[in-house]
Amino acid sequence: MNKKITVLAGDGIGPEIVAEAIKVLDKIEKKFGHKFEYTYVDIGGCSIDKYGVPITEEGMQLCKQSDSVLLGAVGGPKWDNCPPAIRPEKALLAVRKELGLFANLRPTKLFAQLADSSPLKKEIVGNGIDLLIVRELTGGVYFGPKKTEEIDGELVATDIMPYSEHEIERIGRVAFETAMKRSKKLASVDKANVLDTSRLWRKTMHRLAEEYKEVEYSDILVDNTAMQLIKNPTQFDVLVTENMFGDILSDEASMLTGSIGMMPSASLSSTTLGMYEPIHGSAPDIAGMNVANPLGTILSAAMMLRYSFDMASEADAIENAVNKVLDDGYRTGDIMQAGCKKTTCSEMGDLVAKNI
Ligand code: NAD
Repeated sequence: MNKKITVLAGDGIGPEIVAEAIKVLDKIEKKFGHKFEYTYVDIGGCSIDKYGVPITEEGMQLCKQSDSVLLGAVGGPKWDNCPPAIRPEKALLAVRKELGLFANLRPTKLFAQLADSSPLKKEIVGNGIDLLIVRELTGGVYFGPKKTEEIDGELVATDIMPYSEHEIERIGRVAFETAMKRSKKLASVDKANVLDTSRLWRKTMHRLAEEYKEVEYSDILVDNTAMQLIKNPTQFDVLVTENMFGDILSDEASMLTGSIGMMPSASLSSTTLGMYEPIHGSAPDIAGMNVANPLGTILSAAMMLRYSFDMASEADAIENAVNKVLDDGYRTGDIMQAGCKKTTCSEMGDLVAKNI
């Protein structure tokens, strides 16, 4: 297969970790006989420095015309005082909007080899955590009408949380389809005891559950979910939820694994075009030192193969290679354990590529 990938390496450690993901994709190309064509586009601070904007119109068009987008990270202290309209993160919101990325998939995987780096006790994480949060990304209270006004002599702020049936249905379908590809278990997170949007959410999910009879479906309230993620995280497989609940729960879940450097993510549209990126930022404190953990980006590339290109065996090959490298005791500094072998960022990329 031939695929066009737009690469947004970005700032800080972005270029270093993206280079390792491309190294691994190069190996997949050779091994499985595909052709990946890369177009590099500046994004974030490096684009502000060159063009005065966090992403150019031409760069945006290149993202839209590609089969998929691979992102490193943007931002850093150098651009912290830029005017809000041209801050590095603005480019990410713009790409999400222009590409119609409404579904955010955040796997939380604690590899058994790294169980000691989880803040949870070993008896709770068992043989590792492996769950996936499907978060609605373009609706709800973050995008609803908002205002601050003076009423009876004091300021009153209002944020409205709208959700239409079609917005709920399209994220619901992504979640059910994702559950079908995993262990066919889906929990829908809401606050249906209080919110109208959640009652519509639940009703719509129940309608979809009728279509996906093979999926073991359940409802769970968001406050209980926050508790259960700490108490018994291995009970979950796929969780689906609205924008704000998903924002909070996915950050909570990512901490269960102990290292932000391991975590990939995918943002999907209604076509196969998606954007794939590690969940961490540009880590300016370690940029240019060749010590960053590239595995979150490498695993994001695996998600790209699985979700945008329908290349499940190729994605499995990357994930198995990561597992093997961890089994062999190789660790970057952030996940270093006694008795393991410390590697640089580029050595870690080499090792994963070698194991494919
Ligand atoms: P961060 O995620 O960049 O770093 C937090 C800590 O985790 C740092 O100590 C860093 O060294 C470490 N870390 C992060 N990724 C790592 C990796 N792959 N390997 C090893 N260690 C890693 O968060 P921050 O410091 O709050 O933000 C730095 C910049 O990144 C800010 O400008 C912020 O706005 C931006 N940011 C960008 C994104 C994005 O591009 N999607 C996301 C979050 C933050």
